[in-house]
Amino acid sequence: STQVQLARRPEGVPSDDVWDITSTEVAEPADGEVVVQVRYLSLDPAMRGWLNDVRSYIPPVQIGEVMRAGGTGTVVASAHPDHAVGDVVTGTVGAREYATLPGEELTTLDLDLADEPTWLGALGMPGMTAYFGLTEVGALQDGETVLVSAAAGAVGSVVAQIAKARGCRVIGVAGGPDKVAWLRELGCDEAIDYREGDLTRQVRKAAPDGVDIYFDNVGGPLLDAALANLRRGARVVLCGAISGYNAQSLPDGPKRYMSLLVFRARMEGFVVFDYEDRYPEAIAAIGSMIRDGSLVARETVLDGGVRAFPEALRGLFDGVNTGKLVLAL
Ligand code: NDP
Repeated sequence: STQVQLARRPEGVPSDDVWDITSTEVAEPADGEVVVQVRYLSLDPAMRGWLNDVRSYIPPVQIGEVMRAGGTGTVVASAHPDHAVGDVVTGTVGAREYATLPGEELTTLDLDLADEPTWLGALGMPGMTAYFGLTEVGALQDGETVLVSAAAGAVGSVVAQIAKARGCRVIGVAGGPDKVAWLRELGCDEAIDYREGDLTRQVRKAAPDGVDIYFDNVGGPLLDAALANLRRGARVVLCGAISGYNAQSLPDGPKRYMSLLVFRARMEGFVVFDYEDRYPEAIAAIGSMIRDGSLVARETVLDGGVRAFPEALRGLFDGVNTGKLVLAL
């Protein structure tokens, strides 16, 4: 089984020499374990954070360890009563072709509802993040004005569509004309290309009365532009800050944080894993939207097998994906 191990900690964008790609025997399943042949790996911006040796919501990946990664695949051997050979499952399988794991860490997928890549996207961790970030942390109300960044990505595209289904005015922000066009197809009332600059003015034009929710996936200058355009009682949901994940120093801002005082607004961070008990509720809600056609689940599937993992991860920071980025093995 080919696997990707962390060889050294990256500085800036993780180059190829951050990784060792090695081969190993597949371990037989001990009692309670199963062997999964991995079919799709999830590429997540958070992976960049897991490479830093700092205290966070989850321990960093250690040098020499197989890279942590979510994925889906097929059970090829089982010593667990709930998992039969041939079942398609999801879990934290790691960046490798075969994973021998405790059966209780895996969930069987309903492929009648959606294909494997969607279970890593709209029905997976990103979809859960969109749902709980928007409804719980953002306390979404029908008809509000919602601004979302990285809106053509895995989390952002689900945020935009849930907000739309709730009768909100939705402003999506993404990089480049193709993504902006797709955001309009998804029903966004306004779509902003952040590469065109002048963000404060672009947000003001799209939301002259300000925004009730800013769902922040990117941080940086767009966060300041959003803070400059809040409505009274606004909620700024700190989901991520991808624009700074490869930075080698801490950001100066947010420069406009006093807007929180002026507009009696709040800014709150969250980690999706805290909602794990409630994933079935989100899967039911998003699943029914997929079924009735009110939510489009899109993935960008890269080929190249596990050896393409280093390049695929960098792709997130170049915006190669529309919808969820996955790597096919
Ligand atoms: P995406 O599918 O959105 O992929 C990342 C996207 O970010 C790229 O496609 C790119 O789109 C955009 N991007 C990359 N670099 C920059 C930059 N410098 N400035 C602005 N945009 C950039 O990833 P996810 O949906 O998986 O994740 C979105 C965010 O949500 C991330 O910040 C992630 O860390 C966070 N997250 C947080 C969770 C939580 O529990 N709090 C859980 C899951 C995700 P474009 O072409 O538009 O630039």
